[in-house]
Amino acid sequence: MLVFACLASAGQGARAQPPTDLDPRVAQLVAGISQDRIAALLRKLESFSTRNTMSSPASSTRGIGAARQWIFDEMKGFSPRLQVSFDTYRIAKQGRITRDVEARNVMAVLPGRSARRIYISGHYDTVAVAGGQNARNAGSTQPITFADPDSSAPGVNDDGSGVALTMELARVFSTSGVEFDATLVFMCHVAEEQGLMGAKLHAQKAAKERITIDAVLNNDIVGNDRSGNGMIDGASIRLYSEGPEDSPSRELARYVQRWAARYVPSHRVRLFSRPDRFSRSGDHTAYNQYGFAAVGFRESRENFSRQHAPEDTFEGVSPAYLAQNSRVNAAAAATLALAPPAPIIVNDKGQPTINRAPSGYDAHLQWKPSTGASAYRVFWREAWGPDWQHEMLVGNVTEVTLPNTLIDDLVFGVAAVDAVGHESLVSVYIAPMSTAVESGDVKTVPQPDAR
Ligand SMILES: [Zn+2]
Repeated sequence: MLVFACLASAGQGARAQPPTDLDPRVAQLVAGISQDRIAALLRKLESFSTRNTMSSPASSTRGIGAARQWIFDEMKGFSPRLQVSFDTYRIAKQGRITRDVEARNVMAVLPGRSARRIYISGHYDTVAVAGGQNARNAGSTQPITFADPDSSAPGVNDDGSGVALTMELARVFSTSGVEFDATLVFMCHVAEEQGLMGAKLHAQKAAKERITIDAVLNNDIVGNDRSGNGMIDGASIRLYSEGPEDSPSRELARYVQRWAARYVPSHRVRLFSRPDRFSRSGDHTAYNQYGFAAVGFRESRENFSRQHAPEDTFEGVSPAYLAQNSRVNAAAAATLALAPPAPIIVNDKGQPTINRAPSGYDAHLQWKPSTGASAYRVFWREAWGPDWQHEMLVGNVTEVTLPNTLIDDLVFGVAAVDAVGHESLVSVYIAPMSTAVESGDVKTVPQPDAR
């Protein structure tokens, strides 16, 4: 057992020290992102005029059929290491699906040493509605009127930007020669605008087949840094994640911010403790609904008058800004895919393996070893606050004791670290909330007559 007798209390423990062990291979992946290539991808996506899921698939130059085939062929051409396929479903007429339709996500898999998956995603379908998104934001209470699915909906930002980012990472990662531990999936979803349907169908299938998805980095509207009211911010990106505060998605968000800051210090990741913007949603939520950790990237400033409208054109995006957002995704995805899996910190009954032993006043943490780990990093913070405050690298051990450290006042987590310094997601020790349904109602007996 590893005991840190020198630490009188967690509050006086080691301050957070950023490691200096950056991996030159990750730096090279980040540097490989090309603004010019991203611009060319956006121009091509725009050329299909519309990529509406309900548009005619017949043309080879216009509409959903031409667009998905081009994405497929383009990714297939990147590298023989990339396994490209259509992930196909038949969706019945319902809601915004105005007729039975074939829906195809375009999926490119870069196999790793292990089957656990990390997704980078966007949605390639587009939509146009009367008045665009700004009419909704400005208070219109009219029901949404969808334009003819074959009318213009270029969707360069929504979500050509997320698709271009996903495709550029697919190219850079698959041609890098780097062997990843995790399997990377570059996913271009369809039917997002009809209610996240392509993502829901895929997540549903993955859950049913018990596929391990460690992380989904979803990018939707990430190409523009100028809002419709004149504000400009080309140096940050917003990242949304569902709660509660120590949910796997929140941990993924913290991870992205931590590692992106090291490889792309010129770009700030701003975290938001909510699933998405008000009354808006994205494909990461579909994965959340099936129990997967998934987060949603959104540009720093939005121009709503160019969303869901024929005005969503190349002129409304900045390839330089989108390239920075792509580098942030690349840094986080590469580090995570090179790292060992996160440690398991629950026993067979699902209870967190943390207690007050041996004195009754100590913090005693245990975990199961992660394949490929050569050390572990323990994190902690006050139990009222969003960010880790302290961290400490411990050796290749599976338990640690911090004497005289109250586990009731602090939140603890542990990550697995390999010999080069690649760090896993942090597994957090949280007590599951018991519900009245599980614990049962309090049994009562009839009241005696009150006299
Ligand atoms: Zn979108």
